[in-house]
Amino acid sequence: MNSCRRIAVVGAGLAAVSVCDALRALGYDGELALYSAEPGLPYDRPPLSKDVLLGRARREDVLLRPEHWYTEQRVALRERTVVRAVRPHEGGLELADGTAVDADRVVLATGGTPRALPVPGGDDPAVHVLRTWEDSVRLRERLLPGTRVAVVGAGLIGAETAAVAVARGCRVTLVDPVAIPLAGVVGDAVAGALHGRHTAEGIDVITGGVSRLEHRPGGSGVVLRLAGPGGSVSADLVVAGIGVRPATGLAEAAGLHVDDGVVVGTGQRTSHPNVFAVGDVARHNGHRVRHEHWEAAQRSGEAAAHGILGRPLPEPGVSWFWSDRHGCRLEAVGTMADAERTVVRGKPDSGAFTVFGLRDGRLVAAAAIDRGRDIKSARRIVDRGIPVDAARLADESTDLRALLKR
Ligand SMILES: Cc1cc2nc3c(=O)[nH]c(=O)nc-3n(C[C@H](O)[C@H](O)[C@H](O)COP(=O)(O)OP(=O)(O)OC[C@H]3O[C@@H](n4cnc5c(N)ncnc54)[C@H](O)[C@@H]3O)c2cc1C
Repeated sequence: MNSCRRIAVVGAGLAAVSVCDALRALGYDGELALYSAEPGLPYDRPPLSKDVLLGRARREDVLLRPEHWYTEQRVALRERTVVRAVRPHEGGLELADGTAVDADRVVLATGGTPRALPVPGGDDPAVHVLRTWEDSVRLRERLLPGTRVAVVGAGLIGAETAAVAVARGCRVTLVDPVAIPLAGVVGDAVAGALHGRHTAEGIDVITGGVSRLEHRPGGSGVVLRLAGPGGSVSADLVVAGIGVRPATGLAEAAGLHVDDGVVVGTGQRTSHPNVFAVGDVARHNGHRVRHEHWEAAQRSGEAAAHGILGRPLPEPGVSWFWSDRHGCRLEAVGTMADAERTVVRGKPDSGAFTVFGLRDGRLVAAAAIDRGRDIKSARRIVDRGIPVDAARLADESTDLRALLKR
C-alpha cells in the first residue's frame, strides 16, 4: 500500500479510539483526526448503566484514554464537531459548519441511538434513555429512594438499569414482552436464572407489551397502559431499554450499502473502497445481526486499521460480552441459538453456573453467571475448534484448561 496520509474518523467512541490505537501501533504516521459530536474526552459506555448510575464513578474514571494519549499519539480530537456529510468520491468530509475536510480514508464510527418507545405518548419527557454520559447523570439524579421507575425492555441495558434503580431504593417495575429475555443468546437456564433475580431483589416483573403512555398532570408522572388485558403501571419516570438504531444517516446519504447497519466486508471496508465502518454502526456481511458489544467494537476498530493499511487481518475469534446486575456477572461467548445441545456445569441453585452449547461435537457457545474462568477456557476451546466431550465439560473435577491440550 498505500498512499494514505490523512485518515478521518467520524465519532469518538470505543471503536473510533481503537482504530486510532491500532493504526499507530501498526506504524501509520500520517494525519489522524477524530470528529466527536459530544463534548469532552471520549469515555467508555458500559459504566453508564453500572458505576456511573450508582454514583460510584466520575467522568475521569471512565475515560477511554487520558488526555496526554491524544497528544502522544498525534490524534487530533475535534470535540463538539458534528460531521454533516461524507463525500467518498471527492475524498473527504463536510462538517456541520460547512468546513470541508480532505481525507484519503474515512472511518464511520457513529455508533447508534436508543430506540424511542414506538407507542402513543412514547416521547413523554418522563421517558429516559441511556446512551451518553449526560443520559446517565440525568437519570442518576432522578433515581431517588421511593421513586417509581418503570423500565421497558429487560435486555442488557434495561436489566442493568432496573438493578441499579432498585439498589438505589426505587420502586421498580420491569416490563418486557418476552418471558425470558436473552434466552436466544445465553440459553434458557442462564437467562431464566438472571431474570429470576429481578423478582428476588424486589422488582415487579411484568411479561407484556406497552401500548400507550399517558401523561399525568401536575408532575405526577405517567401511566403505562399494557397491551391486551395487561392493566397499567404508574411511574414517576420510565426508562426505555429497547435497543439501538445504528446511526447510518451519513452512510445512506453517501450512497453506501446499508442494511441494519453499514454493511462491511473484510477489514471493515464498506461498499466504497475508501470508507470503513466500525463498532455498533457496522454489520459484517457474514453476520445476521450487528454485535453491539464492547469487545466487538474494539476488535472491529483493530480490523479496520489492518484493512486500511492493507495488512493481514487478526483472527476474529468468537464474540464475547458481559453484563453486571444485582451483584452478579453474566459472561457469554458465541450464541446459544447456534447449539444443538447444552451441557450444564455447576449447580444452578447456587446461582453460579455455566452452560455450554455444542454442535457436532464442538463447543459453539457458553454462558456463565459468576464463572468467568469457565468462559475464558470456553472461548479458547471455541476459537481453536477443539472437539469436546460433553461429560467432561459437565464434570466439575475436569480442569477445563486440560481440554485445551489436544
Ligand atoms: C449504557 C451502556 C452499557 C453497556 N454495557 C455493556 C456491557 O456491559 N458489556 C458489553 O459488552 N457492552 C456494553 N455496552 C455496549 C458497548 O459499550 C458499545 O457496543 C460500544 O460502546 C460501541 O462503541 P461505538 O464506538 O461503536 O459507538 P459509540 O460509543 O456510540 O460512539 C459513537 C460516537 O459517534 C458520535 N457521532 C455520531 N454521529 C456523529 C457525527 N455525524 N459527527 C460526529 N460524531 C458523531 C456519537 O456522538 C458517539 O459519541 C454498553 C453500552 C451502553 C450504552
